[in-house]
Amino acid sequence: MRILLIEDEEQIRRFIKRGLEAEGFQIDVALNGEEGLALGRENYSLILLDLMLPLKSGIEVCQILRDDKITTPILMLTAKDAIQDKVEGLRTGADDYLTKPFAFEELLARIKALLRRSPYQETTSELRIADLSMNLETREVRRGDKLLNLTSKEFALLEYLMSRPNRPLSRTMILEQVWGQNHDPLTNVVDVYIRYLRNKIDKGCPQKLIQTVRDIGYKISD
Ligand code: CA
Repeated sequence: MRILLIEDEEQIRRFIKRGLEAEGFQIDVALNGEEGLALGRENYSLILLDLMLPLKSGIEVCQILRDDKITTPILMLTAKDAIQDKVEGLRTGADDYLTKPFAFEELLARIKALLRRSPYQETTSELRIADLSMNLETREVRRGDKLLNLTSKEFALLEYLMSRPNRPLSRTMILEQVWGQNHDPLTNVVDVYIRYLRNKIDKGCPQKLIQTVRDIGYKISD
């Protein structure tokens, strides 16, 4: 996924760029408002927009992009005490803001939240493996022609597995992604829910899609 970073301060730019590249994002940078505005019209998954920029302010850049119907999610980076700027930024069409200085983890969390929320992202709304399909918009899950009735946790678990097909996923990774941080590390909830899913998805089918990976956890593969 490509992210445009519009930031004039070199240190912050490097810090963000390096961190996001390590997370697998492709980062293009713009050093001032004019450049940012020109690049901002290109096809990016997200724009990180500093507020105080040479040539054009972040507010102006945001406003012009939105006036021109550019719908790329914008995360604004604001100075610590500028409450009014935040209000102004959101009013002009930024999707969220983050106050400097911030921890990288915080930035990453906000970016991921925006990318998930965005209807404009490049990801597909349907996941498919063998004859199992999952529509993320209508939330319909089918094995062949049969419509399956999943609870929301089962759905979340299956979505996590299906968005990473053929990759062994540890119980810890699954727990953190699907159940969040507040879980008992000794819980067997993952195994329990995998059993529920198997009953709904694989039971009675000659081809089993959910597989146990010894000493690690589970994977879904065809
Ligand atoms: Ca700046």
